[in-house]
Amino acid sequence: MTYDLIIIGAGPAGCGATIYSARKQLKTLLITPSFGGQSDVSSEIYNWIGTKAISGTNLARSMEEHVRSYVGEYLTIVTKESATKLSKNEDGTFSLSTDKNIYMSRSILITAGSGRRKLSIPGADTFENKGIVYCASCDGPLFSGQDVAVIGGGNAGFETAMQLLAYCKHVTLLNRSASFKADAVTIKHVASNPHMTILAEVEPIAIIGEKFVTGLTYKSTKTGEETTIPVTGIFVEIGQIPNSAFVDGFVNLDKYKRIIVDHRTQRTSINGIWAAGDITDGLYHQNNISVGDAIKAIENIYLYIKAGG
Ligand SMILES: Cc1cc2nc3c(=O)[nH]c(=O)nc-3n(C[C@H](O)[C@H](O)[C@H](O)COP(=O)(O)OP(=O)(O)OC[C@H]3O[C@@H](n4cnc5c(N)ncnc54)[C@H](O)[C@@H]3O)c2cc1C
Repeated sequence: MTYDLIIIGAGPAGCGATIYSARKQLKTLLITPSFGGQSDVSSEIYNWIGTKAISGTNLARSMEEHVRSYVGEYLTIVTKESATKLSKNEDGTFSLSTDKNIYMSRSILITAGSGRRKLSIPGADTFENKGIVYCASCDGPLFSGQDVAVIGGGNAGFETAMQLLAYCKHVTLLNRSASFKADAVTIKHVASNPHMTILAEVEPIAIIGEKFVTGLTYKSTKTGEETTIPVTGIFVEIGQIPNSAFVDGFVNLDKYKRIIVDHRTQRTSINGIWAAGDITDGLYHQNNISVGDAIKAIENIYLYIKAGG
C-alpha cells in the first residue's frame, strides 16, 4: 500500500508529528528502532512544558503511550526497524527501505535526530566501553567512589557532572574554550560542589590504560602544557552527529550533515520530503523545539496531501 505519510523516528519530533498526523486522518506509518529519543537517558528533565520534572524514561514512556493510543485506521507503527535508503519513484511517490522492508508513501517526514559524537584521540577506540562512556544515568553507578572526567562544557556535560557527583569521589570537567555553553544556573550549581573541578581552555589528547581506563592526558590550549589525571571513567559529551546518512546525496545537507530546511515550513530540498528536530540545520535543539517544528511540518504536509501532492 502507499501511505500518505511516513514518519522516520520516534523522538519528541516524531511522536509529536505522529499524533498530529493521525488526528488529521492522514494514512500514517511511523518507523523507528525505539521510542523516546535522546533525553531518554536524562535522570530529570525540568523544561518539558506543563511538567515540573520528569525522568527521560518516563517522558519516553508517556510519549509512546500517547502515540500508541492512535494506532488504528490512520496509524501503523513499525518498531525495531531503521531507515536505510530513501528514493523518489517516477509517479512522485517515495520508496523507503529499512533494514527489513520497503515502504511506499506520498510524503516523508524525517525526524531521525542525532547520535553521540565520539573522541578521536589516541586510546579512544581501545577504551570505548572500557571506561569511555556516554550516559551518566546508565553507567554512572559503575564508577561509584571513583575519580572520573567529563569532556564537554555544554548542558549535557554539566548535567552529566551533576549526576556523577551523587556517587563519584571526584569529577573533573574539561572544556575546550574559555566560556561554557551550559545554562548559568546549572554551571553555578555544579561549580559549588567541593568534589568538582572545572577546567577551561584544555583539550583531551590521550586516554591511558591497560585493560580499562586509568587516566586522561589533556593539553592547555593557551600554554600547550600537558597534564595527566588519574581517572577510571570518562564521560564524553562533545555534541551530536545527525542520523542523516540514509539521505546523504539525496536531500541537501549542510557541512555538519544536518538536513537543510525552510524554517517556515520544514520543507527540505526535495518536494514531498520534510524534516524536523535535531536532524535539521535549526539553530537550537531542544525537546520542545523538536515537537514544535514537527507540528509545523505536519500542518504543511496536510496541505500538500490535500492539494493532491
Ligand atoms: C543527555 C541529554 C539530555 C538532554 N536534556 C534535555 C532537556 O533537559 N531538555 C530539552 O529540551 N532537551 C534536552 N536534550 C535535547 C533533546 O533530547 C533533543 O533536542 C531531542 O531529543 C531531539 O528530538 P528529535 O525527535 O529531533 O530527535 P531524537 O530525540 O534524536 O530522536 C530520534 C528518533 O529517531 C530514531 N532513529 C534514528 N535513526 C533512525 C533511522 N535510521 N530510521 C528510523 N528511526 C531512526 C531514534 O531511535 C529516535 O527514536 C537532551 C539531550 C541529551 C543527549
